[in-house]
Amino acid sequence: MRYVLLGPPGAGKGTQAAILSEKLGVPHISTGDLFRANIGQGTPLGVEAKSYIDAGKLVPTDVTARMVEDRLNQDDAANGFLLDGFPRTVEQADILADLLEKKGQKLDGVINFEVSEDVVVERMLARGRADDNEETIRTRLGVYRDETFPLIQHYGDDIINVKAEGTVEEINERTLKAMGK
Ligand code: ADP
Repeated sequence: MRYVLLGPPGAGKGTQAAILSEKLGVPHISTGDLFRANIGQGTPLGVEAKSYIDAGKLVPTDVTARMVEDRLNQDDAANGFLLDGFPRTVEQADILADLLEKKGQKLDGVINFEVSEDVVVERMLARGRADDNEETIRTRLGVYRDETFPLIQHYGDDIINVKAEGTVEEINERTLKAMGK
């Protein structure tokens, strides 16, 4: 079971992914979480990523893709994963496709969490993570619109739309239903 989770920053992908991971028995792989773990541990990757993340910009794709490849090569991801935060650009989607092809794997679908900009801004301000101030939020929404939103068209028929407004439980039920689980 291999799914990509797509949606604007603050769409609640991470929250849903954690629940789905538990219910479906596949790891939740979040690039944001991997970066934050590296920053916390002060690794060279974390040091490099931090300035981009603090500014709300994308970390360079070569760095990000290498980190994702390493993570997907770990044993627990052999039978499936929920990939959250990658790809974020069409370039990254092509890298992922190559990477999976090399492994003889393919995606089962791309879950697209649909939520209005007002709601995501509200959620991010309430969450108050280090990179959740008004200016970075504006930058991240711009990056989403310009670079990530085109992935919906790129993935075409593989997209599974889920309305991501409501309670966490409601959205979880909707997601499982949309996945046919
Ligand atoms: P959110 O879903 O709220 O945007 P994430 O935790 O997914 O938060 O990501 C936080 C930050 O990590 C992003 O703003 C970006 O700087 C960096 N990041 C995450 N995934 C990627 C990626 N695929 N490519 C480049 N940068 C990324």
